[in-house]
Amino acid sequence: SSRVMLGPLVAAIDQGTSSTRFLVFNAKTAELLSHHQVEINQSFPKEGWVEEDPKEILQSVYECMERTCEKLTQLNVDISNIKAIGVTNQRETTLVWDKETGEALYNAIVWLDLRTQSTVEHPRQMCPRNNPNSLNTYFSAVKLRWLMDNVDEVAEAVLTHRAMFGTVDSWLIWCLTGGKSGGVHCTDVTNASRTMLFNIHTLDWDPELCKYFDIPMEILPKVRSSSEIYGLMKSGCLSGIPISGCLGDQSAALVGQMCFQEGQAKNTYGTGCFLLRNTGAKPVMSEHGLLTTVAYKLGRDKPACYALEGSVAIAGAVVRWLKDNLGIIQTSTELEKLAASVGTSYGCYFVPAFSGLYAPYWEPSARGIICGLTQFTNKSHLAFAALEAVCFQTREILDAMNQDSGIPLTQLQVDGGMTSNRLLMQLQADILCIPVVKPSMPETTALGAAMAAGAAEGVSVWSLRPEDLSEVTSEKFEPQINPEESEFRYARWKKAVQRAMNWET
Ligand code: ADP
Repeated sequence: SSRVMLGPLVAAIDQGTSSTRFLVFNAKTAELLSHHQVEINQSFPKEGWVEEDPKEILQSVYECMERTCEKLTQLNVDISNIKAIGVTNQRETTLVWDKETGEALYNAIVWLDLRTQSTVEHPRQMCPRNNPNSLNTYFSAVKLRWLMDNVDEVAEAVLTHRAMFGTVDSWLIWCLTGGKSGGVHCTDVTNASRTMLFNIHTLDWDPELCKYFDIPMEILPKVRSSSEIYGLMKSGCLSGIPISGCLGDQSAALVGQMCFQEGQAKNTYGTGCFLLRNTGAKPVMSEHGLLTTVAYKLGRDKPACYALEGSVAIAGAVVRWLKDNLGIIQTSTELEKLAASVGTSYGCYFVPAFSGLYAPYWEPSARGIICGLTQFTNKSHLAFAALEAVCFQTREILDAMNQDSGIPLTQLQVDGGMTSNRLLMQLQADILCIPVVKPSMPETTALGAAMAAGAAEGVSVWSLRPEDLSEVTSEKFEPQINPEESEFRYARWKKAVQRAMNWET
């Protein structure tokens, strides 16, 4: 059979909290040609602890690559058309490895992990530069500090100059470009800006913050732009292909949704929920509990672009909890049917503050509650309340963002695993009272990483101009309930949040 004729292709590794994906796109049309996905195991060794196995993460990447290449070959697509690979990843998740053996020295501590809660409560007011709320269990610096203080192998490797620190992007790029025999130790500005060791103004590691956390700068990766050739794949079916894009998952989604204009925003519904709004060339400091982050820097000589970010810790994770811990559903897709069967929470409110509350509250000691229960409440109402919780949390972020910028958002671009739930999308439009717009190709995070890789100097097969990708289509959910009802439910939700906040006092 004859080969399918295509232009250049660009691939992306999307290493998320719950799964790893490898995806191949047509650089002309942004069409997704093939992909493969593998679930990632999480371990919870103690209450509040969340870990993943670095070896499993790496293996899952190789497995997804091999399987995708097989699928492409079956489709008669020549894999030598793949010109570049981008990396996008769960952010803040922290690893330390030994550069001589190539082995990780402990599990990856996942962004959701709460083991550093007592560490951050103590010096909360003393941290330089950032506002006090920003010293939080979420960021990598405190996780790295914990590893240095509690894992002998890590302490030893730091002392003997064999330790390398990295977020998941750094771990993967180092391993894929050769590991202990010449791997490239780097990260990009977006991932670096989530560590709390990075100065988002100078775009380099911050000596003062490193000193504050007592972290030797020699263990840090080199900070690069989000779009440049970092190195070449050393082994596997794609050996020799440049890795030339790197963005934290939320930044990648912003790029994949083509939110390049100041004021544009997207919300990604994965394990957590992350709303980012492009603020242009200047970092804007929030007065309403949002974080300032580097959105992207698409080339060595290109300027950095910043974003305001609202992070919600628990979104899809609540679905996983209903499935794994309560067993009221067998698969995440069943949730929609269950919730739709009642179409209301019947006055039940579910605040899934399993890991405290992130934006706009930043309250690590908050805990989950379900309230408003009656004799009549059943699992369908609980399912509905869980979906509503995701929507209310997004509304709180959007309100904060509108207050910070003074310009209300008129529509919200969405993506992520949970957006396949149409009921959720409709509820979101109802609760925000603005339209919710979902691209037909839902893998925007991977698309963003692929675009960055394809646009890199020396690759240059992809334009970053939205008008060149006119074939990208989307679906719009319009608000359907009256705003008064929406406000009433939102006010009830806020009451429930207050109860979750004061749980331990
Ligand atoms: P991540 O990038 O954080 O790994 P994904 O974007 O892959 O997350 O989304 C996976 C999350 O979405 C899981 O937590 C899962 O529970 C949730 N999810 C997937 N499908 C549905 C669905 N149809 N309804 C509700 N939640 C869903």
